Amino acid sequence: MSKYSELENIIRNNSSFLITTHVNPDADAIGSEIAFVEMLKKLGKSFHVINYSETPYYLEFLDKENVIQKYSPELHNQLFNSVDVIAALDFNNLKRTVKMEEFIRNSKAVKICIDHHQEPEYFTANYFNGTDYCATGHIIYNFIKETGIVEFDYNLALPIYAAIMTDTGSFRFDRTNAEVHNIAAHLINLGVIPIEVYTQIYDQNDAGKLKLLGDALHSLKLYGENGEVAVMIIRNSDFSKNLASETDTDGFINICMSIKSVKIALKFLEVREGFKVSLRSKGKIPVNYLASEFGGGGHQNAAGIRIRDKQMDELIPTLIQKAISYTKLDGEK
Ligand code: 5GP
Ligand code: MN
Repeated sequence: MSKYSELENIIRNNSSFLITTHVNPDADAIGSEIAFVEMLKKLGKSFHVINYSETPYYLEFLDKENVIQKYSPELHNQLFNSVDVIAALDFNNLKRTVKMEEFIRNSKAVKICIDHHQEPEYFTANYFNGTDYCATGHIIYNFIKETGIVEFDYNLALPIYAAIMTDTGSFRFDRTNAEVHNIAAHLINLGVIPIEVYTQIYDQNDAGKLKLLGDALHSLKLYGENGEVAVMIIRNSDFSKNLASETDTDGFINICMSIKSVKIALKFLEVREGFKVSLRSKGKIPVNYLASEFGGGGHQNAAGIRIRDKQMDELIPTLIQKAISYTKLDGEK
């Protein structure tokens, strides 16, 4: 990781910022953006937050002042060159900004990337990344803490807490350690109320989401000699029938992982342009390598693939076979 002092210099020495994150943003993505904005506001900088996707409704509470805009070519394409700095948060491959990719890539602005995923593309020399961090919000917290660039307050604490809470699976995933709990304690001391954040994010379901979950569970099948691979398939017809959308499927795959025999879970999702696969694994099985064989990526235990040029049904059997072979790896790769 480049040093925090370099990031501090970039922030202090520039005045206008364009902040963005990955398609289909989660709470770490939105929380990191809002925390970054709060920091810039305290420093008197100007900023735009432009995302390819709309903010999911259950994360709108983080964007109280409605600063996040959905990307529009007409409105925003000129901005990529007119700002001083483009800050890419919670992703490390420009493909994940979809149609914004070429404008970010070709921009003359200083680019910074703050992220905690594996296998960065290195589209800029200014990478502030580390896979040991439980969330991008964790890196932003440490940056502010170490440099003292601004004072922490509730407005900074809330989005950082949301980022860390969700990316640690509510403080239970691998990278949840004493440091993460100490950060949470600091944020709670600044006024964050854990039950409120949890309720805002996780207890906002429409009935359609639960009905969609019913259909998704109905599709669940186990593969491998002892049921090591769980597969869930959600089709366009399931979405339309239940008036549900892609973000409603967040968390479905974790239910597959609760099955004792399962080592890898695959969730296949038909989306508007092609399809998406979510991959999860237990232990040391590197599903990010499995994903990268098909053009995707992610972390050792959580990865994804988005495919636009192939039929989902063509690829399902291949991916299942690959997943079965990966269940035998457990740490060898
Ligand atoms: P999810 O299944 O929750 O959408 O994604 C899990 C993780 O996989 C994300 O945190 C991200 O790191 C990674 N990921 C998801 N989709 C893609 C993708 O299309 N390309 C790459 N490189 N990584 C992805
Ligand atoms: Mn993240």
